[in-house]
Amino acid sequence: MAADPYILSDTTWKTVRGTDYEVAVLPWGATEAHNFHLPYGTDNYESSHVAAVSAWKAWDAGARVAVLPTIPFGVNTGQLDIKLCINMNPSTQAVVLGDVARSLEAQGIPKLVILNGHGGNDFRQMIRELQPTCGVFVCTVNWWNCVDPKPYFDEPGDHGGELETSLMMHLAPNLVLPLDEAGDGKAKKFRVAGLRDGWAWAPREWTKVTADTGVGNPAAATAEKGRKFFEAVTDRISGFLVELASADLGKMYE
Ligand SMILES: [Zn+2]
Repeated sequence: MAADPYILSDTTWKTVRGTDYEVAVLPWGATEAHNFHLPYGTDNYESSHVAAVSAWKAWDAGARVAVLPTIPFGVNTGQLDIKLCINMNPSTQAVVLGDVARSLEAQGIPKLVILNGHGGNDFRQMIRELQPTCGVFVCTVNWWNCVDPKPYFDEPGDHGGELETSLMMHLAPNLVLPLDEAGDGKAKKFRVAGLRDGWAWAPREWTKVTADTGVGNPAAATAEKGRKFFEAVTDRISGFLVELASADLGKMYE
């Protein structure tokens, strides 16, 4: 049986050489502790699944999309003291991104979407730097904020909370420990008001903020909540991929 032609890792040259791919999707995650109950690869599982199902829906709607292998390391400079959290610095990520984009450029694949699954990753400045010297159109999507989570969750949470736990219960239930083994994801706030209120920003020193590595309480998570949110997110992202695939790069503005 032929593999899904939109999942590059599963696809052969036989398929690839005859397909006019319009958009490449690069899922980008992280390898880090997620409270006591979710696996270190949570962000990779999430971004890979969101990419795969969004691409499947987009392919069905006629868009020629290829999901590249997930990059498993994120910016984790605030978690260097947590065992086996693996940091990839922004400057390293920029080099990796540039190599991927220039490969696509040489092959005439015109558009690249970075599907980001980790809060510590921020590709916008890298794209600003890369774009003037690269013929591939590059953009970025954070999958967790393209649909308002409030109607789906009591308290979505930031990291290993209700949103992520629900999603993992839906996507990889065999990797989620029982919720009575999870911590409550209680997080300490900054003492300085501007930082606490969010209009001033500094990265958080994770182990000073949370005792269980989680930020957000997973107690109310269910697989059904995860399923509904996942459907909404992949519907939205697939719609974006379809629109982007057919967009004329010479006419991107109204
Ligand atoms: Zn995560």
